[in-house]
Amino acid sequence: MEKIAFFDAKPYDKEWFDKINGSKYEIIYYESRLRPESARLADGCRAVCAFVNDVINAKTIDALVQMGVEVLLMRCAGFNNIALSAARDKLTILRVPAYSPHAVAEHAMGMILALNRKIPRAYIRTRDFNFSLVGLTGFDLYQKTAGIIGTGKIGRVFAKICRGFDMNVIAYDPKPSPLEGVEYVDADELFRRSDIISLHCPLTRETRYIIDDAAIGLMKKSALIVNTSRGQLIDSEALLSALNDKRIGGAALDVYEEESGLFFEDNSDKIVTDEVLSLLVSRPNVLITSHQAFLTEEALHSIAEVTLQNFDDFLNGKELVNEVRAQ
Ligand code: NAD
Repeated sequence: MEKIAFFDAKPYDKEWFDKINGSKYEIIYYESRLRPESARLADGCRAVCAFVNDVINAKTIDALVQMGVEVLLMRCAGFNNIALSAARDKLTILRVPAYSPHAVAEHAMGMILALNRKIPRAYIRTRDFNFSLVGLTGFDLYQKTAGIIGTGKIGRVFAKICRGFDMNVIAYDPKPSPLEGVEYVDADELFRRSDIISLHCPLTRETRYIIDDAAIGLMKKSALIVNTSRGQLIDSEALLSALNDKRIGGAALDVYEEESGLFFEDNSDKIVTDEVLSLLVSRPNVLITSHQAFLTEEALHSIAEVTLQNFDDFLNGKELVNEVRAQ
């Protein structure tokens, strides 16, 4: 029976992969993240299954290849954590390009609503029988402008959700594709006009710190930024400084540039030494979730199904439609 070494395994991964796999492959679950030091755990496995914060650099890839691992099954869409050029001609990389764009887009809107209408603060207050409304004022989304950066699978769903709120929707994407009710503009115009800005582009050399001090400088002082894409799209220090100076309305972050090793884990009994994150967490106009935008039953089902189908296709010499290669 073919074996899959499954890194960074969480109970919800195990539940869905076991359900979809049945007894087809032997899946060996490791809580450890994949990195050069843990790669040896994949000894004897033909495939490795990894996730967004695994460290898949040249060292990890060489260690896997040396042990005879032939295929890396990414159970996610993004692949910015893989040294693709080091894998060329040595390791096949397959991913899940789309599982539920709705899961992520709905979470983005959920975060905007929660941040704007101060729902987490209200929840904490009312549990203590504090029914004061002071400090809980938000604004109507109706007829405000939503700016969407990246109108791929998730960005398009988010645009539809915004239109459902009767918002004006503008977007920036270097490869625009017509979308009903959406006006494409350049990035600077989007920053200037938007009341909420939602990031749905991948992390690339071009998009790293797409939200930096200069971009924030163009935004309305009341603008809310939501990032459900990748942490490094935002320069967190610039964001914190803008929040401190009240140059921005607030931020909803499902991802954070230094999230690796923190997000997905319970750190409640540890001293978290990331000062930028600690300050962001403490701001009343910042809402942070732990990279959970994808976490719906539908998405987990689809992730397990496509990941295992990718392995089937690899073993059966079929066309690898979800392969990722170095350019
Ligand atoms: P997609 O490939 O369908 O769409 C990405 C879009 O971004 C494309 O239209 C592309 O043209 C555009 N783009 C590329 N470079 C750009 C730039 N410089 N400026 C603006 N737009 C640019 O991807 P998707 O499925 O919509 O996913 C988007 C991102 O969401 C992924 O890259 C991933 O990082 C993130 N994601 C996060 C979670 C989560 O749980 N938080 C889950 C899934 C995906």
